[in-house]
Amino acid sequence: MQKAGKQGIVYLIGAGPGDPGLITVRGLQCLRQAQVVIYDHLANPELLGEAPQAEHLYVGKQCGCHYRPQEEIHLLLAEHAGQGKVVARLKGGDPFVFGRGGEEAQFLETAGIPFEVVPGVTAALAAAAYAGIPLTHRGDIASLTLVTGHEDPAKEDSGLNWPSLANAGTLVFYMGMTNLPAIADRLLAHGRPPGTPVAVVRWATTCRQQTLVAPLAQIAARAQEAGLRPPAVIIIGEVVARRSGLSWFERRPLFGRRILVTRTAEQAGAFTSLLQSLGAEAVACPLIAIVPPEDWQEVDAELDRLPETDFLILTSTNAVELFFGRLRQRGGDARDLHRLQVVAVGPKTASAIEAEGIRPDLVPTQTEAEGVVELLAPLVAGKRVLYPRAALSRELICRELTAAGARVAVPVLYRTVPPPGGGEQLQAILAQGVDAVTFTSSSTVENFVALAGPDHLQRLAATPLLSIGAQTSRTLRRLGLPVAAEARETTLEAMAQALIDYFHGGNDVFP
Ligand code: SAH
Repeated sequence: MQKAGKQGIVYLIGAGPGDPGLITVRGLQCLRQAQVVIYDHLANPELLGEAPQAEHLYVGKQCGCHYRPQEEIHLLLAEHAGQGKVVARLKGGDPFVFGRGGEEAQFLETAGIPFEVVPGVTAALAAAAYAGIPLTHRGDIASLTLVTGHEDPAKEDSGLNWPSLANAGTLVFYMGMTNLPAIADRLLAHGRPPGTPVAVVRWATTCRQQTLVAPLAQIAARAQEAGLRPPAVIIIGEVVARRSGLSWFERRPLFGRRILVTRTAEQAGAFTSLLQSLGAEAVACPLIAIVPPEDWQEVDAELDRLPETDFLILTSTNAVELFFGRLRQRGGDARDLHRLQVVAVGPKTASAIEAEGIRPDLVPTQTEAEGVVELLAPLVAGKRVLYPRAALSRELICRELTAAGARVAVPVLYRTVPPPGGGEQLQAILAQGVDAVTFTSSSTVENFVALAGPDHLQRLAATPLLSIGAQTSRTLRRLGLPVAAEARETTLEAMAQALIDYFHGGNDVFP
C-alpha cells in the first residue's frame, strides 16, 4: 500500500529514439514535474530543456566507453526517491524494450518505491517510419520480431531460435552492428534467401540519420565499407523493398545539415522550427539579448507628444513589443495612436502590430531602410515622424526623412547586448562543427565575432555564413567575413530558401 505524504516516485520514461518531438505527452508531463532527471546516452539531451527546474544526472557511457553499472543506477534511483523527490528516469526509445527498464522496475517494486512506466517510441518503429519502411504488409508480411543482436550468434548456446527467426516475417535487430556478419550468416544458413533486402538505419530520426540498403548476403560487407557504427537497427525482410518513394525524412531539402541560429532566445524558436521542418538540425545559440534603454526619458517624452505626431515607424517585433509595453505601463493603449499613420517594416512586424489591435497603414515592400525611405519621403514634408529604434541602428531613415522635410524623433527604445554565458555556449557548438551559420541582424554578427574567439573564426573559413539582408551582409564583410548567400527578402522563409539554394542550387520551397 502506498503511504500518503512526502513520498518520492520514479517515472520510467521512454524518451523516444532521438527526435525530441517523439516523446509522449505523458512523458513530457512527468519530465516537467521532475526534481531529478537521470538520463542515458541515447535519450536526447535537448529534452533536459523541458526540466530546467530539475537536477540532471547523466548515467550513460562514461569517457566514451564505460557504462555505469546497473546497480549504481538502482541506488541512485532509491537515494533520490527516498528523499521524497519526483525522479524522471529518462531512457532512449521505450524503457521496456532492451532498455533494462524491467530490471529497474523490479528493483523499485522490491524496494517499495512507487513508480510509473511511460512507454516511448522504440528505435525499430521510429527507424522504420523515418526510413520509409512499413514493418508489416497486409496479406503478405504478418509478423514483426524485435531481436537483440547483442549476443554472439556463433555461440552454440545462443538464446535465439535461429531456424524460426530465419522463417519469420520482418526482423529488427537492436545492438547488432558488431555481430552483423554472424547474424547474416546464421539467417542464411537457416534458409533465409540471400536476396532478402536489409536496411541498416543509424541515428534514426535525427539529422544524422543514415540508411544503407543491401541484400542479406552483402549487407555485412557493405555496412563495413560504409563505416556504419552503432547506434543502428537492422531491419530484415521483404518490407524493406517498399522503402523507395517513402523515404520522406531523408528527402527533405535541408536533411542532414546542422545549422546555427543566432537570434535571441525568444525569437529563435520560429526559425528553428522552420529549419527542422525542412529536415535540418537547427542549433539555437542566442547571440543577442534585447534589453530596455538605460532610462525611459526619451521614449516617455515622445509618448507624451503622440497627439502631435503624424507617423510612427516600427521596424521589428522587438520594437513593437517594447513600444506597446511602455505605452501600457504608462496607462495608455492603442487609442493613443488613433491619429497616427503606423508604418510596419516587414510582415512579422506588421502581424505584431495587428496583434496590438492596430492595422498598419503602410507596409513597405522592400524592408531594408532604403525601402522605408522610398515609401515615406514623398509623404512626410512638414510632418512629425516618430521612429523609436535600437541603440546604434542606422542613421539613414532619420537623415533622409529629415532631408525630405520631416521632423524626425528617434528615441532609443531598446539595446542589444551579448547574452550572459553566450560565449561558452557558442564555442561549445562550434567545437562540434556546424554546416552553416545564419545571421538575422548586424548585432548578431558583431557579437558572433566577439564571442567566437579567433581560433574558431579561423576554422570557420570553410563554413558558409548566410545573411538575412544587405545591412547584415555589409556588417559581415566589414568584419572580414565572406557572405555565402543573402536572403532575397528579409524574412525567415527567404533565409531558409537561401540555405536550400546554397546547398542544392535548388528548387523553391517557398515560391
Ligand atoms: N530502449 C531502446 C533500445 C536501447 S538498446 C529503444 O526502445 O529503442 C540500444 C540500441 O537501440 C542501439 O544499439 C540501437 O540498436 C537501437 N537504437 C536506439 N536509438 C536508435 C536510433 N536513434 N537509431 C537507430 N538505432 C537506435
